[in-house]
Amino acid sequence: MKAHQLFFSLLLTGAVFFFTNCEKDEVQADPFLEVDDQGNTQFNNNLQTYVDDLPKEDLNAGEMASLSFIREEEKLARDIYLALFNLWGKNVFTNISNSESTHMGAVLVLLDKYDLEDPAAGLDFGVFVNTELQSLYDELLAHGQVNLVQALEVGAMVEEVDILDIQTALDDFVDNQDISLVYDNLMKGSRNHLRSFVRNLAQEGIVYQPRYLDQSTYDTIINSPMENGNN
Ligand code: ZN
Ligand code: ZN
Repeated sequence: MKAHQLFFSLLLTGAVFFFTNCEKDEVQADPFLEVDDQGNTQFNNNLQTYVDDLPKEDLNAGEMASLSFIREEEKLARDIYLALFNLWGKNVFTNISNSESTHMGAVLVLLDKYDLEDPAAGLDFGVFVNTELQSLYDELLAHGQVNLVQALEVGAMVEEVDILDIQTALDDFVDNQDISLVYDNLMKGSRNHLRSFVRNLAQEGIVYQPRYLDQSTYDTIINSPMENGNN
């Protein structure tokens, strides 16, 4: 082997090694969903194309109400994690808040596609049109203001509520393919975020007990690994 060939082959080996190591932290995901090793689960800009490629089907009343509700529910998650980050300075809150911002964006893609009004348009952080969500936000914020452990519990509780509400929508009335696609992936995000908050609580010496999900559903989620976009 000539010197320049050897040099080239070493360079190639180095490049392969470099890229292999870069990808280690990033779990392989669908082209529109990104999951990191902490479980932060974000939609990227590819989502728009995937939603646009699916047919615009008739909306039933349940789907219509749910899109508005879930848009604000994702806002609740984004807003409360930001408030809790400002109180406790723990990175898990700001990381997941950023993910929730992309979840809000994913629901907005659907609202826009179906020409529905955005309930969250122009609303400040911590303010909601839906009175049920406003009360939930106020209660959870009060709980999370007490100490860091309670703040992390709020994270787990929010994700539990998200999982329940999205599961109910999928089971009871969602049949449009584009809504199913987004909701399935919002659920993945919530299961990953739940795992993340429970892990953070364990680091504080706390074994989290589910408040909303039944024990067996909760155990199945917690005892399975972080999900990427494909499973
Ligand atoms: Zn979410
Ligand atoms: Zn979440």
